[in-house]
Amino acid sequence: VVIHEARPKAGGLNEFGIAAYKSTGGFAGAEVDWLLKIGGIEIKTGAGLGDGLTLEALQADYDAVFLGMGMTGVNGLRAEGADMSGVEDAVDFISTLRQASDLASLPIGRNVVVIGGGMTAVDAAVQSRLLGAQNVTIAYRRGREAMPASRFEQDLAASKGVTLMFNVMPVAVHGNGAAAEIELEYTVSEGGNLKPTGETIRLAADQVFLAIGQKLDGAPDAVKIEGGKIVVDDAGRTSVAGVWAGGDCASGGEDLTVTAVAEGRDAAMDINQSLMG
Ligand SMILES: Cc1cc2nc3c(=O)[nH]c(=O)nc-3n(C[C@H](O)[C@H](O)[C@H](O)COP(=O)(O)OP(=O)(O)OC[C@H]3O[C@@H](n4cnc5c(N)ncnc54)[C@H](O)[C@@H]3O)c2cc1C
Repeated sequence: VVIHEARPKAGGLNEFGIAAYKSTGGFAGAEVDWLLKIGGIEIKTGAGLGDGLTLEALQADYDAVFLGMGMTGVNGLRAEGADMSGVEDAVDFISTLRQASDLASLPIGRNVVVIGGGMTAVDAAVQSRLLGAQNVTIAYRRGREAMPASRFEQDLAASKGVTLMFNVMPVAVHGNGAAAEIELEYTVSEGGNLKPTGETIRLAADQVFLAIGQKLDGAPDAVKIEGGKIVVDDAGRTSVAGVWAGGDCASGGEDLTVTAVAEGRDAAMDINQSLMG
Protein backbone atom coordinates (compact mmCIF):
# COMPACT_ATOMS: atom_id res chain seq x y z
CA VAL A 1 0.00 0.00 0.00
CA VAL A 2 1.39 3.38 -1.00
CA ILE A 3 0.01 6.66 0.36
CA HIS A 4 0.68 9.68 -1.82
CA GLU A 5 0.47 12.70 0.51
CA ALA A 6 0.70 16.23 -0.89
CA ARG A 7 2.00 17.77 2.33
CA PRO A 8 5.45 17.15 3.82
CA LYS A 9 3.83 15.30 6.74
CA ALA A 10 0.95 12.82 7.01
CA GLY A 11 -2.01 13.18 9.37
CA GLY A 12 -4.29 15.54 7.44
CA LEU A 13 -6.39 18.04 9.36
CA ASN A 14 -5.78 16.13 12.58
CA GLU A 15 -2.13 17.14 12.24
CA PHE A 16 -2.57 20.56 10.63
CA GLY A 17 -6.16 21.68 11.07
CA ILE A 18 -7.72 20.83 14.41
CA ALA A 19 -6.76 23.24 17.16
CA ALA A 20 -4.09 22.13 19.61
CA TYR A 21 -6.37 22.36 22.66
CA LYS A 22 -8.55 19.59 21.15
CA SER A 23 -5.85 17.16 20.18
CA THR A 24 -3.18 16.03 22.62
CA GLY A 25 0.40 16.80 21.55
CA GLY A 26 1.63 14.72 18.64
CA PHE A 27 -1.45 12.48 18.69
CA ALA A 28 -2.00 12.39 14.92
CA GLY A 29 1.70 11.76 14.25
CA ALA A 30 1.76 8.96 16.84
CA GLU A 31 -1.30 7.40 15.21
CA VAL A 32 0.42 7.46 11.80
CA ASP A 33 3.58 5.88 13.31
CA TRP A 34 1.46 3.19 14.98
CA LEU A 35 -0.36 2.41 11.73
CA LEU A 36 2.90 2.11 9.81
CA LYS A 37 4.01 -0.61 12.23
CA ILE A 38 1.43 -2.89 10.59
CA GLY A 39 3.97 -3.13 7.80
CA GLY A 40 3.66 -3.01 4.03
CA ILE A 41 2.56 0.65 4.01
CA GLU A 42 4.75 3.32 2.46
CA ILE A 43 4.05 7.06 2.64
CA LYS A 44 5.37 9.29 -0.12
CA THR A 45 5.09 12.85 1.16
CA GLY A 46 5.23 15.98 -0.95
CA ALA A 47 3.80 13.96 -3.83
CA GLY A 48 0.23 14.95 -4.48
CA LEU A 49 -2.29 13.91 -7.06
CA GLY A 50 -2.26 16.57 -9.75
CA ASP A 51 1.34 17.41 -8.94
CA GLY A 52 2.63 15.51 -11.95
CA LEU A 53 0.71 12.49 -10.66
CA THR A 54 -2.51 11.57 -12.49
CA LEU A 55 -5.35 9.21 -11.65
CA GLU A 56 -4.66 7.35 -14.88
CA ALA A 57 -1.03 6.76 -13.85
CA LEU A 58 -2.15 5.53 -10.42
CA GLN A 59 -4.68 3.18 -12.03
CA ALA A 60 -1.96 1.80 -14.27
CA ASP A 61 0.39 1.20 -11.32
CA TYR A 62 -2.06 -0.03 -8.68
CA ASP A 63 -4.99 -2.47 -8.52
CA ALA A 64 -7.13 -0.06 -6.52
CA VAL A 65 -7.04 3.67 -5.78
CA PHE A 66 -8.61 5.35 -2.72
CA LEU A 67 -9.07 9.12 -2.77
CA GLY A 68 -8.97 10.65 0.72
CA MET A 69 -7.87 14.14 -0.18
CA GLY A 70 -10.12 16.08 2.19
CA MET A 71 -11.30 19.58 1.39
CA THR A 72 -8.15 21.58 0.86
CA GLY A 73 -9.58 24.61 -0.96
CA VAL A 74 -10.99 27.51 1.03
CA ASN A 75 -13.88 29.80 0.26
CA GLY A 76 -12.88 33.44 -0.05
CA LEU A 77 -14.69 36.40 1.50
CA ARG A 78 -16.59 38.53 -0.97
CA ALA A 79 -16.53 41.83 0.84
CA GLU A 80 -14.81 45.15 0.32
CA GLY A 81 -11.34 45.18 1.90
CA ALA A 82 -11.12 41.39 2.12
CA ASP A 83 -7.61 41.52 0.64
CA MET A 84 -6.19 43.67 3.46
CA SER A 85 -3.44 42.34 5.65
CA GLY A 86 -4.82 40.90 8.85
CA VAL A 87 -7.54 39.04 6.97
CA GLU A 88 -6.56 35.39 6.85
CA ASP A 89 -7.86 31.90 6.47
CA ALA A 90 -8.67 30.29 9.82
CA VAL A 91 -7.37 26.84 8.84
CA ASP A 92 -4.02 28.36 7.77
CA PHE A 93 -3.83 30.12 11.14
CA ILE A 94 -4.46 26.87 13.02
CA SER A 95 -2.02 25.01 10.78
CA THR A 96 0.74 27.55 11.52
CA LEU A 97 -0.07 27.29 15.19
CA ARG A 98 -0.04 23.50 15.21
CA GLN A 99 3.38 23.39 13.58
CA ALA A 100 4.94 26.28 15.56
CA SER A 101 7.71 25.37 17.97
CA ASP A 102 7.34 28.63 19.92
CA LEU A 103 3.76 29.85 20.38
CA ALA A 104 5.01 33.16 21.78
CA SER A 105 6.38 33.99 18.33
CA LEU A 106 2.92 33.92 16.72
CA PRO A 107 1.40 37.34 16.07
CA ILE A 108 -2.12 37.58 17.44
CA GLY A 109 -4.45 40.55 17.19
CA ARG A 110 -5.89 42.49 20.09
CA ASN A 111 -9.36 42.47 18.55
CA VAL A 112 -10.07 39.30 16.62
CA VAL A 113 -13.23 38.66 14.61
CA VAL A 114 -13.86 35.18 13.23
CA ILE A 115 -16.33 34.86 10.37
CA GLY A 116 -18.16 31.55 10.25
CA GLY A 117 -20.14 29.20 12.42
CA GLY A 118 -18.53 25.77 12.30
CA MET A 119 -15.82 23.92 14.19
CA THR A 120 -13.13 25.87 12.35
CA ALA A 121 -14.60 29.15 13.60
CA VAL A 122 -14.76 27.87 17.17
CA ASP A 123 -11.21 26.49 17.03
CA ALA A 124 -9.77 29.73 15.63
CA ALA A 125 -11.66 31.84 18.17
CA VAL A 126 -10.74 29.74 21.21
CA GLN A 127 -7.11 29.52 20.06
CA SER A 128 -6.99 33.29 19.64
CA ARG A 129 -8.20 33.78 23.21
CA LEU A 130 -5.72 31.21 24.51
CA LEU A 131 -2.95 33.08 22.67
CA GLY A 132 -3.88 36.30 24.44
CA ALA A 133 -6.26 38.20 22.14
CA GLN A 134 -8.26 40.66 24.25
CA ASN A 135 -11.57 40.58 22.40
CA VAL A 136 -12.61 37.68 20.24
CA THR A 137 -15.95 37.59 18.43
CA ILE A 138 -17.46 34.91 16.24
CA ALA A 139 -19.76 36.52 13.68
CA TYR A 140 -22.24 34.06 12.21
CA ARG A 141 -24.72 34.99 9.51
CA ARG A 142 -27.65 32.88 10.75
CA GLY A 143 -29.26 32.28 14.15
CA ARG A 144 -27.77 30.15 16.94
CA GLU A 145 -29.98 27.15 16.12
CA ALA A 146 -28.58 27.02 12.56
CA MET A 147 -24.94 27.18 13.67
CA PRO A 148 -23.02 24.12 12.43
CA ALA A 149 -20.85 24.09 15.59
CA SER A 150 -22.62 22.09 18.28
CA ARG A 151 -24.07 23.75 21.37
CA PHE A 152 -21.22 22.14 23.33
CA GLU A 153 -18.67 23.92 21.12
CA GLN A 154 -20.58 27.20 21.31
CA ASP A 155 -20.59 26.98 25.11
CA LEU A 156 -16.91 26.06 25.12
CA ALA A 157 -16.13 29.18 23.10
CA ALA A 158 -18.26 31.32 25.42
CA SER A 159 -16.55 29.81 28.47
CA LYS A 160 -13.20 30.95 27.06
CA GLY A 161 -14.49 34.51 26.75
CA VAL A 162 -15.45 34.43 23.07
CA THR A 163 -18.45 36.59 22.14
CA LEU A 164 -20.91 34.94 19.76
CA MET A 165 -22.82 37.24 17.42
CA PHE A 166 -25.67 35.82 15.39
CA ASN A 167 -27.48 37.08 12.28
CA VAL A 168 -24.63 39.25 11.05
CA MET A 169 -22.67 39.02 7.82
CA PRO A 170 -19.51 40.85 6.78
CA VAL A 171 -19.89 43.63 4.23
CA ALA A 172 -16.52 45.39 4.48
CA VAL A 173 -13.16 45.39 6.18
CA HIS A 174 -11.90 48.90 6.91
CA GLY A 175 -8.34 50.03 7.49
CA ASN A 176 -5.38 51.63 5.82
CA GLY A 177 -4.06 48.55 4.04
CA ALA A 178 -4.28 46.58 7.27
CA ALA A 179 -7.57 45.56 8.88
CA ALA A 180 -8.68 47.88 11.69
CA GLU A 181 -12.46 47.43 11.70
CA ILE A 182 -15.00 45.09 10.26
CA GLU A 183 -18.45 46.19 9.17
CA LEU A 184 -21.21 43.65 9.68
CA GLU A 185 -24.75 43.83 8.40
CA TYR A 186 -27.62 42.34 10.39
CA THR A 187 -29.63 39.63 8.66
CA VAL A 188 -33.04 38.02 9.04
CA SER A 189 -34.12 34.57 7.95
CA GLU A 190 -37.35 34.55 5.98
CA GLY A 191 -38.65 31.16 4.93
CA GLY A 192 -35.12 29.77 5.12
CA ASN A 193 -33.69 32.59 3.00
CA LEU A 194 -31.18 34.96 4.50
CA LYS A 195 -31.88 38.64 3.91
CA PRO A 196 -29.73 41.65 4.77
CA THR A 197 -31.57 44.30 6.80
CA GLY A 198 -29.50 47.34 5.83
CA GLU A 199 -28.56 47.94 9.47
CA THR A 200 -24.82 47.65 10.10
CA ILE A 201 -22.41 47.61 13.01
CA ARG A 202 -18.65 48.14 13.09
CA LEU A 203 -16.31 46.18 15.35
CA ALA A 204 -12.64 46.85 15.99
CA ALA A 205 -10.77 44.05 14.22
CA ASP A 206 -7.03 43.98 13.66
CA GLN A 207 -7.26 40.30 12.77
CA VAL A 208 -10.10 38.71 10.82
CA PHE A 209 -10.19 34.94 10.43
CA LEU A 210 -12.25 33.43 7.66
CA ALA A 211 -13.87 30.15 8.57
CA ILE A 212 -16.49 30.18 5.86
CA GLY A 213 -16.01 26.70 4.56
CA GLN A 214 -13.59 24.55 2.70
CA LYS A 215 -14.01 23.12 -0.76
CA LEU A 216 -12.77 20.21 -2.80
CA ASP A 217 -9.67 21.09 -4.77
CA GLY A 218 -7.83 19.06 -7.37
CA ALA A 219 -10.18 16.07 -7.64
CA PRO A 220 -9.55 14.11 -10.85
CA ASP A 221 -11.83 15.14 -13.72
CA ALA A 222 -12.86 11.54 -14.38
CA VAL A 223 -14.75 11.05 -11.10
CA LYS A 224 -18.32 12.28 -10.77
CA ILE A 225 -18.72 15.29 -8.48
CA GLU A 226 -22.03 16.48 -7.07
CA GLY A 227 -22.62 19.24 -4.56
CA GLY A 228 -18.87 19.84 -4.41
CA LYS A 229 -18.06 16.27 -3.30
CA ILE A 230 -16.93 13.07 -5.01
CA VAL A 231 -20.00 10.88 -5.45
CA VAL A 232 -19.64 7.50 -3.71
CA ASP A 233 -21.93 4.59 -2.89
CA ASP A 234 -22.20 2.93 0.54
CA ALA A 235 -18.94 1.05 0.00
CA GLY A 236 -17.09 4.19 -1.10
CA ARG A 237 -17.02 3.29 -4.80
CA THR A 238 -16.78 6.31 -7.11
CA SER A 239 -18.16 6.56 -10.65
CA VAL A 240 -14.83 5.19 -11.95
CA ALA A 241 -14.25 1.44 -11.64
CA GLY A 242 -11.34 0.63 -9.34
CA VAL A 243 -11.43 4.03 -7.65
CA TRP A 244 -12.84 4.53 -4.14
CA ALA A 245 -13.13 7.68 -2.04
CA GLY A 246 -13.95 8.56 1.56
CA GLY A 247 -13.68 11.21 4.24
CA ASP A 248 -14.43 14.90 3.75
CA CYS A 249 -13.91 14.78 -0.04
CA ALA A 250 -16.65 12.19 -0.53
CA SER A 251 -20.42 12.55 -0.52
CA GLY A 252 -22.59 11.43 2.36
CA GLY A 253 -20.24 11.99 5.31
CA GLU A 254 -20.51 14.35 8.23
CA ASP A 255 -17.10 16.02 7.87
CA LEU A 256 -15.92 14.46 11.11
CA THR A 257 -12.76 12.50 11.83
CA VAL A 258 -14.71 9.51 13.10
CA THR A 259 -16.73 9.35 9.86
CA ALA A 260 -13.61 9.71 7.71
CA VAL A 261 -11.98 6.81 9.57
CA ALA A 262 -15.10 4.63 9.24
CA GLU A 263 -15.37 5.39 5.52
CA GLY A 264 -11.71 4.51 5.01
CA ARG A 265 -12.27 1.20 6.81
CA ASP A 266 -15.42 0.39 4.79
CA ALA A 267 -13.70 1.19 1.50
CA ALA A 268 -10.66 -0.91 2.49
CA MET A 269 -12.93 -3.89 3.18
CA ASP A 270 -14.69 -3.44 -0.16
CA ILE A 271 -11.37 -3.05 -2.00
CA ASN A 272 -10.12 -6.23 -0.34
CA GLN A 273 -13.26 -8.10 -1.30
CA SER A 274 -13.23 -6.90 -4.89
CA LEU A 275 -9.53 -7.78 -5.31
CA MET A 276 -9.77 -11.18 -3.63
CA GLY A 277 -12.93 -12.14 -5.52
C1 LIG B 1 -10.54 23.68 12.31
C2 LIG B 1 -11.17 22.33 12.23
C3 LIG B 1 -11.67 21.76 13.38
C4 LIG B 1 -12.23 20.49 13.34
N1 LIG B 1 -12.68 19.94 14.49
C5 LIG B 1 -13.15 18.67 14.48
C6 LIG B 1 -13.57 18.03 15.68
O1 LIG B 1 -13.55 18.61 16.75
N2 LIG B 1 -14.02 16.75 15.60
C7 LIG B 1 -14.07 16.06 14.42
O2 LIG B 1 -14.46 14.88 14.40
N3 LIG B 1 -13.71 16.65 13.26
C8 LIG B 1 -13.25 17.93 13.26
N4 LIG B 1 -12.88 18.53 12.09
C9 LIG B 1 -13.07 17.78 10.82
C10 LIG B 1 -11.97 16.72 10.63
O3 LIG B 1 -10.70 17.32 10.78
C11 LIG B 1 -12.12 16.13 9.24
O4 LIG B 1 -13.44 15.64 9.08
C12 LIG B 1 -11.15 14.98 8.99
O5 LIG B 1 -9.82 15.40 9.19
C13 LIG B 1 -11.35 14.45 7.57
O6 LIG B 1 -10.36 13.53 7.27
P1 LIG B 1 -9.92 13.29 5.75
O7 LIG B 1 -8.87 12.24 5.82
O8 LIG B 1 -11.11 13.08 4.91
O9 LIG B 1 -9.31 14.68 5.27
P2 LIG B 1 -8.05 15.49 5.78
O10 LIG B 1 -7.84 15.34 7.24
O11 LIG B 1 -8.24 16.87 5.24
O12 LIG B 1 -6.84 14.80 5.04
C14 LIG B 1 -6.69 14.89 3.65
C15 LIG B 1 -5.24 14.64 3.31
O13 LIG B 1 -5.10 14.59 1.90
C16 LIG B 1 -4.00 15.38 1.52
N5 LIG B 1 -4.23 15.86 0.15
C17 LIG B 1 -5.05 16.83 -0.27
N6 LIG B 1 -5.02 16.95 -1.60
C18 LIG B 1 -4.14 16.02 -2.03
C19 LIG B 1 -3.66 15.65 -3.31
N7 LIG B 1 -4.07 16.26 -4.43
N8 LIG B 1 -2.76 14.64 -3.39
C20 LIG B 1 -2.32 14.00 -2.26
N9 LIG B 1 -2.74 14.33 -1.03
C21 LIG B 1 -3.64 15.32 -0.91
C22 LIG B 1 -3.97 16.49 2.54
O14 LIG B 1 -2.68 17.09 2.61
C23 LIG B 1 -4.32 15.73 3.81
O15 LIG B 1 -3.20 15.15 4.43
C24 LIG B 1 -12.33 19.80 12.10
C25 LIG B 1 -11.84 20.40 10.93
C26 LIG B 1 -11.27 21.66 10.98
C27 LIG B 1 -10.77 22.30 9.73
